[in-house]
Amino acid sequence: MLITGPRGTKDILPDVSGNWQYIEKTVRDICSLYGYKEIRTPIFEHTELFLRGIGETTDIVSKEMYTFTDRGERSLTLRPENTAAVVRAFLEHKLYAESLLSKMFYIGPMFRYDRPQAGRYRQFHQFGVEALGSKGPAIDAEVIILAVQLLERLGLTDLNLYVNSVGCPECRPVYREKLQDYLREKTTDLCTDCQSRFDRNPMRILDCKKTKCTEESAGAPHIVDCLCDDCSTHFEQLKSLLSAAGIHYVLNPRLVRGLDYYTKTAFEIQYAPLGSQSAVCGGGRYDGLVAECGGQATPSIGFAIGIERILLALEKQGLLPDASNEIDVFVAPIGKEVQGIAFKLLCDLRKNGVTADMDFMDRNIKGQMKQANKYPARFVAIIGDDEAAQGKVMLKNMQSGVQELVDIHAVQNKIQVEMED
Ligand code: AMP
Repeated sequence: MLITGPRGTKDILPDVSGNWQYIEKTVRDICSLYGYKEIRTPIFEHTELFLRGIGETTDIVSKEMYTFTDRGERSLTLRPENTAAVVRAFLEHKLYAESLLSKMFYIGPMFRYDRPQAGRYRQFHQFGVEALGSKGPAIDAEVIILAVQLLERLGLTDLNLYVNSVGCPECRPVYREKLQDYLREKTTDLCTDCQSRFDRNPMRILDCKKTKCTEESAGAPHIVDCLCDDCSTHFEQLKSLLSAAGIHYVLNPRLVRGLDYYTKTAFEIQYAPLGSQSAVCGGGRYDGLVAECGGQATPSIGFAIGIERILLALEKQGLLPDASNEIDVFVAPIGKEVQGIAFKLLCDLRKNGVTADMDFMDRNIKGQMKQANKYPARFVAIIGDDEAAQGKVMLKNMQSGVQELVDIHAVQNKIQVEMED
């Protein structure tokens, strides 16, 4: 019996890996424009990092982690997200000592024991940025604009940017109480998850997608009406920076993060045509996380974008680049005797940066021409006994159909001249 890939995973096959490279290249180009440098952290970390860095009450930690004990009896976890690991590396390598503001990005696989469906996998990929060190709203605006510009550069339209402020440990407890007062009478009508959130993490009730929970919380007070002066000023400044940059946003008071180290700005970018998995980007400020992980308090902000969802969105809008396998030259020997000469020509062309291939399956000339067309190849260099005896090849321009006897050492020169014409 054939063994298949695990549930919730996907193979990225050769005919679509070009789409991934296209997105990755666009990500790298944008990050270099904005001065964010790549960080690559391990795929697995000590479980403790995620317990502290994501929070034990979150769905990710309580239900979705791939945790295992290694042969040395350590509890390790496949990373379900990458912010905690970036913070760990920031502290472990004292990146704070190198510059006042550390701007980093990552791209890579994340692992969550989620219920697989279109746009939701158990191994998925995120691109994210983290800016550690600045408390001002300008860096929030920069990070949000970077995300928007990336999606726009890929050609996506129909995007909605939602922003909110989740306050800080000073003003949030006041809001939390107001929210609990509002929901207290309604708890029995909430889903079981939200019933247990009522005491632990009531703000998370606001982003529960279940109809009864959205109905019950519809008239709940808004946190933006309870912000302290500092959080309120920060939010106002962020909004005016976004407006000044021509970024359209929508206020969404239900956009929340439930943990204490999430502070002030929260944002999300949605691409509505993806339906239930429309969130393509989620991010926000986490001024308390570095201290939670054992460092000095360091105001920070970041986001993560799901690459599979971007691919789905690009596919929907017909924005994926055409896959091209085009090569410059296909070398076609006729008969075994000239194979050595043909192979040497192939090696020389490649050494000089010409994309070239040849037949490795002992096909006859008809089969080889078919293969050359399939690539397609711009030129075919045919070598039979006669050509080999004269130190020449028959070079066929596949576009014009013209063929010409060319010295074997002049093949590269000849195709370069013709390609420039
Ligand atoms: P989060 O880390 O939960 O804030 O998610 C950030 C982004 O990652 C989301 O907006 C999605 O685009 C993507 N994402 C999260 N979970 C999954 C998943 N299981 N499968 C695919 N993409 C995901």
